[in-house]
Amino acid sequence: MALACPRCKHDGLQDLPDFVASLPRESPLHGKYGQPPEYKAQLLLPAGAVALGVVLLISGSVAAGLLLLIGGAGVGVWLWRKTSAAEEARARWARSLYCRACPATFLREDAVAT
Ligand SMILES: [Zn+2]
Repeated sequence: MALACPRCKHDGLQDLPDFVASLPRESPLHGKYGQPPEYKAQLLLPAGAVALGVVLLISGSVAAGLLLLIGGAGVGVWLWRKTSAAEEARARWARSLYCRACPATFLREDAVAT
């Protein structure tokens, strides 16, 4: 059972990471087909805000403490989601196929069997 492109039905498929690796270093196609960038969240700042918020809450500054606690937690969750989305995009890229005929990129599970 061979796999074919879901768009043009051509069976000249290649793993996207292999295709990108075969491109010349100066190729403009790296921008279009290259691996999505990593995103490393800097969680120290939101964690510090949460810790300071707890200290302020304990010491009686309820409004400022709550503000820092909620703000820090919100930023932390947002950064975490951004990191997960970047990891997911990289994982999808790693299991994508490239069609040498049309040329489309698609997930391996979206390829049609011939
Ligand atoms: Zn195709």
